Amino acid sequence: MIIGEDIHKSFGDLEVLKGIDLHVQPQEVVVLVGVSGSGKSTLLRCFNFLEMINSGKITIDGKSVNPKKDNLSEIRAEVGMVFQHFNLFPHKTVLENVMEAPIIVKKEKKEVAEKKGRELLDKVGLADKADVYPSKLSGGQKQRVAIARALAMEPKVLLFDEPTSALDPELVGEVLQVMKQLAQEGMTMVVVTHEMTFAREVADRVIMLDKGTIIESSDPVTFFENPKNERTKQFIQMVK
Ligand code: ADP
Ligand code: MG
Repeated sequence: MIIGEDIHKSFGDLEVLKGIDLHVQPQEVVVLVGVSGSGKSTLLRCFNFLEMINSGKITIDGKSVNPKKDNLSEIRAEVGMVFQHFNLFPHKTVLENVMEAPIIVKKEKKEVAEKKGRELLDKVGLADKADVYPSKLSGGQKQRVAIARALAMEPKVLLFDEPTSALDPELVGEVLQVMKQLAQEGMTMVVVTHEMTFAREVADRVIMLDKGTIIESSDPVTFFENPKNERTKQFIQMVK
């Protein structure tokens, strides 16, 4: 679903991604871990073209993307993103937040977008919050709205960048539960998270990024029980 080949990304003199090769299969859940500054967010942002790579190649669902020629809003519609800080529109209701992109980007009819929006809010357990403003919601509810909003574009893959890191501990579970349900329904997902229980239970593969390089990539049992790289071992000790 996503193929990244030899991806290099620098900010000025700082080389943040140093030749990343990552193939994400349809319906696969990849959890991406690594210490702060290792390049996790940058990699996700490259995959949906919020950042432009310096060299290498990105293929989305069989289509090699050329950022100079291709319509990036169409590609971003296929690669949804959920951020740490929700990024909801504060002056729009929950339902309007979910309907916005399909109407603006996909030119969906309002009635169609509303019907789908209500279904998605029901899916994330927030059908009764359709008409309230985000400021009335808890962090966990806001993040579930953000997930519904990403799903409204019917993306082929969803990227999550530390979706629970800004939440009070008691609100983390409700968001992880929604993500787990999506995974079980076959959504292709790349998830940056420090929630190692989620990685163990839900990931098909866990990848460790270190200074812009993939140093470990294996199934969760191997990753946690029998890591090859010394830095992965240290990391696992640290997050235990
Ligand atoms: P992580 O998500 O793993 O913590 P990031 O991808 O956010 O890491 O950042 C990797 C490195 O790139 C860090 O050193 C960070 O300061 C730098 N960086 C990220 N974005 C930018 C930017 N827009 N401009 C300059 N440096 C950046
Ligand atoms: Mg980050």
